[in-house]
Amino acid sequence: MSARRRTLAVFPGSFDPITNGHVDIIARGLQVFDEVTVAILQNLEKRPLFTTEERVELIREAYRGEKRVTVDTFSGLLVDYAVGKGASVIVRGLRAISDFEYEFQMALMNRRLDHRIETVFMMPAEQYSYLSSRLVKEVFQLGGDVRGLVPPAVERKLRDKYGRQATAKPRRA
Ligand code: ADP
Repeated sequence: MSARRRTLAVFPGSFDPITNGHVDIIARGLQVFDEVTVAILQNLEKRPLFTTEERVELIREAYRGEKRVTVDTFSGLLVDYAVGKGASVIVRGLRAISDFEYEFQMALMNRRLDHRIETVFMMPAEQYSYLSSRLVKEVFQLGGDVRGLVPPAVERKLRDKYGRQATAKPRRA
């Protein structure tokens, strides 16, 4: 038998910032694929909180020592980027029904653009199924605690950005 080719998956998104929902999907991706490249879309239209360099650095920090996770940036067509990287899979996370319609359109469009790339959807653990980068930013800006929702480096960076001390642990419901 010939040696199996390594399967590289690309996990594209804004990651502004990376949350534990993304981390959960990356962990699931690593169970199925040999390598996961987190690919940050450089989107000139969106006004991100963190610069691309900051987002790259935060993800690097979360995966220091994990050789199977790499971080990169891209612009232009995702399928072109994926092929250029030698990837055969696009991984996307599916949280709720609300994600489905857009993701379905994107997956079919990407298949039409390049049928060699397969899109694979993964569901996060339930506790992350309501989590988004946007919600994390809103909650933090309003004074809420986001520990447990983002990697520690992200929480520190949010505090730096907003010049805030660590808050008390969230109360249990
Ligand atoms: P985009 O702007 O492409 O939606 P995001 O950074 O918000 O970029 O998301 C990147 C990918 O991660 C998407 O597939 C999104 O569905 C997925 N994702 C985001 N948050 C979560 C979460 N809490 N659980 C599972 N998947 C998630």
